[in-house]
Amino acid sequence: MRLLPWQQDNWQQLMRQWQQLPHALLLTGPHGIGKAAFAEQLAASLLCERPRDDHLPCGACQSCHWMLQNSHPDFRVLRADEEEDKDKPRKLAQIKIEAVRDLIDFAHLSAHRSGRRVVMIDPADALNMAAANALLKILEEPPEGVHFLLSSDHPHALLPTLRSRCRVFPLSMPDWQQALQWLDQQGVKQADAELALAGGAPFALDDAELVKQREVLLKVLLSPSVLGILDVAQQLDRARLPFAIPLAWLDKWLHDLAVVRYQRPARFYPNYTAALQGLAERISPIALMQFHDQLQQRLPFGQHTLNLRLQLEAILLAYAALFPSLSH
Ligand SMILES: [Zn+2]
Repeated sequence: MRLLPWQQDNWQQLMRQWQQLPHALLLTGPHGIGKAAFAEQLAASLLCERPRDDHLPCGACQSCHWMLQNSHPDFRVLRADEEEDKDKPRKLAQIKIEAVRDLIDFAHLSAHRSGRRVVMIDPADALNMAAANALLKILEEPPEGVHFLLSSDHPHALLPTLRSRCRVFPLSMPDWQQALQWLDQQGVKQADAELALAGGAPFALDDAELVKQREVLLKVLLSPSVLGILDVAQQLDRARLPFAIPLAWLDKWLHDLAVVRYQRPARFYPNYTAALQGLAERISPIALMQFHDQLQQRLPFGQHTLNLRLQLEAILLAYAALFPSLSH
């Protein structure tokens, strides 16, 4: 377990307030920048029996050993429940009240080692209303020695009372080169292109399965045809993707179609700049804007999983209609 290279400044910043560290910290910043990794590092540090001068965990004591084994009895992580049932479409994951109740029991136990206990909630956005209210009660009267580390991509969507019980600690966007180097070390293929598509957030990269689905979609975006669209919609439907995922790919594609028109390089799909330029020349700017509006209206409904195939077909046919010269 190590501090991520782009989190050094944030760590220094936290070190300066070490003596006044609040019992609840809310780590904020865009999705995929490593908030959970930072929280884990901080948890290890709070629990370490011989922390270093810079407050980083020693990596050698019993507590650090437990952390590395993911078996620390004084550390509890609450994550959103993933829908494991393969026959069901992927749903928006939630943290439910039962999980928070268990956590409250845990927080009231006495600590095994250092006298401290650490609770991590990742992401706090996933708490449903009942769970958030239950958590609020314990944050209002926190047991001695318990630290709560929450993280959130959308802190303004949290219950305001919950947010106000935490000290907000924004984490920095990764430096591009550092992120790229780190991804290379992790063995990520095409790290450049993948990091670009993820908007520079190294933990938001598409996994291998998603990359495959994305390639399928890109093929039809590059060369739209009715038959191709029907085929893609069927394939992505079979992969049970939430509509939000292809919508986000398409949204970024549209962004790039708009910028290449002004001779600027594609931001999300840099490897496709030339192809995007070729496509952009065939589309009227007004039609592109109207299609963009149409897409924006659908984005909020992206977690709906009903009729993915029909929804995809509709939006991709509208995309194809941007090219008047399209042969059917
Ligand atoms: Zn240690």
